[in-house]
Amino acid sequence: MDRRKFLKTSLSTLVFANLPKISFSQSNPDIVVIGAGSAGLSATAELIQKGVSVLCIEAMNRTGGRCYSDTSTFGIPIDIGGHWLHGFSENQLAKFGKKHKDKFKIYPENAPSIVYDGKRKVEANELWRIYKELKKIRYTNRTDVPFITLVPEKIKKNSWFDTAAKMVGDARDLDNFSSYDDNVNWYDPGSGDGLCREGYGTLLAYYRKDVPVKLNTIVSEIKWGGKGVQIVTNKGTINSKACIITTSIGVLKAEKIKFSPPLPARKIKALDGISMTYSNRVLMQLKKKFYKSKKIKNDTWFNTKCNSNGVRSPQTYYGSLKMGGSDVSLFGISGQFAKDLGEEGDEATIDFILNDLKSTFGSKFYKKYFIKAKSIAWSKNPFTFGSYTGAIPGKANNLRRELRMPVGDKIFFAGEATALAFSTVHGADRSGKRAATEAYISPALG
Ligand SMILES: Cc1cc2nc3c(=O)[nH]c(=O)nc-3n(C[C@H](O)[C@H](O)[C@H](O)COP(=O)(O)OP(=O)(O)OC[C@H]3O[C@@H](n4cnc5c(N)ncnc54)[C@H](O)[C@@H]3O)c2cc1C
Repeated sequence: MDRRKFLKTSLSTLVFANLPKISFSQSNPDIVVIGAGSAGLSATAELIQKGVSVLCIEAMNRTGGRCYSDTSTFGIPIDIGGHWLHGFSENQLAKFGKKHKDKFKIYPENAPSIVYDGKRKVEANELWRIYKELKKIRYTNRTDVPFITLVPEKIKKNSWFDTAAKMVGDARDLDNFSSYDDNVNWYDPGSGDGLCREGYGTLLAYYRKDVPVKLNTIVSEIKWGGKGVQIVTNKGTINSKACIITTSIGVLKAEKIKFSPPLPARKIKALDGISMTYSNRVLMQLKKKFYKSKKIKNDTWFNTKCNSNGVRSPQTYYGSLKMGGSDVSLFGISGQFAKDLGEEGDEATIDFILNDLKSTFGSKFYKKYFIKAKSIAWSKNPFTFGSYTGAIPGKANNLRRELRMPVGDKIFFAGEATALAFSTVHGADRSGKRAATEAYISPALG
């Protein structure tokens, strides 16, 4: 059975995973969890397990946050955010998925990679050499300076530099990237990457299928000056003893949630030391003959040579072709370039990818192979304002520890930015459990 047929039949048993059961007995719970992404769902599950009265509220009309598999566009679940199961050897969601073999195919990523220089498919030894040099700097340097200042001039002048820079930056441009953040602030016990054929979002939704969530509930203010915490939402005010905030740093920095009284100076300083990074997506369904004619295997990494002549955010992208054996391919655009293109709109973003694909695979690419595409500008989503976080160079020291610190023993923080594993779904999941435990043992609960 091909992936499309398999997913269509098995989807009927999984689709409920995106629709968590909702039962809200207590209007004034002991703890309110704000946000139902990986961290919020985990915090809520942990508190339920500990017997605490808890209410998880979510702004969007769905759970999953930045880890969500969309089924509406291509008829099969396709990740629009988090996709790779990082820290695979110890990733708790991967372990869960493997236990549910009847529902999920979880596999280590050992995908082939193809590189094009214009219309030519190339071995690109130079690209890999430059990439390895940059990676070595990324994983060994602990100085808190803009990464770009650590790169020898000779490497910057190499014609593959722009392509390699995007690969090593992980949504960050090299002038806004501190390798101190990577090497000191994070510790992930797992290694390697894996994939879930049914989508990481589907896996997360099933993992947390029993967690009740109140959807379409947008928090606008947290009043914490008096007794307990009052959470002001578009659906009324909820009184609780404590709350756990799991929204992205982008939401907090944009001051979409007002704190009364304001957050302490140390917290504001930490928020000033971090920024959202940008990783927008184009998902494209292509005709099977494209994959066949180019002999493309499942989950193939795809890069094309880019030369943006030294602009700070190279104008390029990467691809993961034939996702999980389906006819859909993923294209990722990152850094400031992604944000700028996102501002131009979905059509401009899809056109950018299509034009490059035409210059690689021929001017008839669209006519011959294109079926449909969807663009996702996380940078514009008002409930994320970006994809994940990076420390601002020079401000990384002690940053994430401070972001984790509770305020007034009644406002707790979880989520990707507070996690010990770089910008990840499983890191966010662990952070939710950590914050739930902190809240549980805090004086706030009495
Ligand atoms: C394009 C992209 C690719 C990625 N790739 C990977 C990958 O391959 N592997 C990986 O591990 N990670 C990846 N990530 C990162 C990963 O998806 C995130 O780190 C993780 O999902 C974050 O979870 P979270 O719970 O911390 O935050 P979120 O998922 O952002 O959850 C927070 C929730 O809070 C809600 N919220 C916001 N404001 C309010 C409000 N005012 N009131 C109520 N609710 C609110 C939001 O709607 C959201 O649902 C990627 C992310 C993106 C965007």
